[in-house]
Amino acid sequence: MPQTILETKNLTKIYNLGQENEFEALHHINFTARAGEFLCIMGPSGSGKTTFINNISTIDFPTKGQVLIDGVEIHTMSANEIGRFRSRTLGFVFQEFNLLDTHTIYENIAMPLALAKVKKGEARQRVETMARQMGIQEILHKYPRECSGGQRQRGAICRALVMNPKIIIADEPTGNLDRRSANEFLELVDRLNKEQAVTIIMVTHDPLIASYSSRMVYIKDGMIEQTIEKGHVSQKEYFWKITEINASESNNMFV
Ligand code: ADP
Repeated sequence: MPQTILETKNLTKIYNLGQENEFEALHHINFTARAGEFLCIMGPSGSGKTTFINNISTIDFPTKGQVLIDGVEIHTMSANEIGRFRSRTLGFVFQEFNLLDTHTIYENIAMPLALAKVKKGEARQRVETMARQMGIQEILHKYPRECSGGQRQRGAICRALVMNPKIIIADEPTGNLDRRSANEFLELVDRLNKEQAVTIIMVTHDPLIASYSSRMVYIKDGMIEQTIEKGHVSQKEYFWKITEINASESNNMFV
């Protein structure tokens, strides 16, 4: 059994605690991700997916409960330690790519290395190797606005991976991509997962994209409502199971 890489114990998130508009977005979530898993998180809009992702990746912090990443209990660390830990352990890919428009693709990718004080020569080598793997060497000198959506996404992936993270956290990473770029992105993530055993935790609303994962976690009303493992069924069968779970939610909407 592979080791646990990420774990939550009774993770609870309450927004606006103590105020009139207090809202409990996550209720006592117990969750475990094993090293090398490719997990996807699904659920209706407003169910708590982004809140969950933010809380398991040190972007936000639980109101109650614990988050352990790679055996480290996050709340025991200082802000500085968390920053360093995050840049070493986690790679982020968001829907908006979050590339800085005032910097070239090269500078964007090199940023985590500069923050980690990696020497310039080594940084250049790592950026160029990453860009070669991702097929974007020829756009390194360009600014994000001069690149296509797919190229920007690949730039963002290079930036997420340049520090060799153990876990990739992705929130709707294909939301702004056309089907072809989305497929390319998935193939890449799939390769990283299979060849380098990088753990992937990805929010998506698209059953086709989710069907690449090894386990689907369905969140509803701030709780994990169900989990399905792909197991030995075909991707197609897994896709239909995922579709069924998502469709049963829409089913409740008909009058
Ligand atoms: P999802 O990603 O599944 O769409 P979110 O995690 O964004 O859901 O939101 C879950 C719930 O928490 C929603 O009802 C949302 O309105 C609420 N929420 C999210 N962020 C905040 C916030 N910063 N302050 C107050 N409520 C929030």
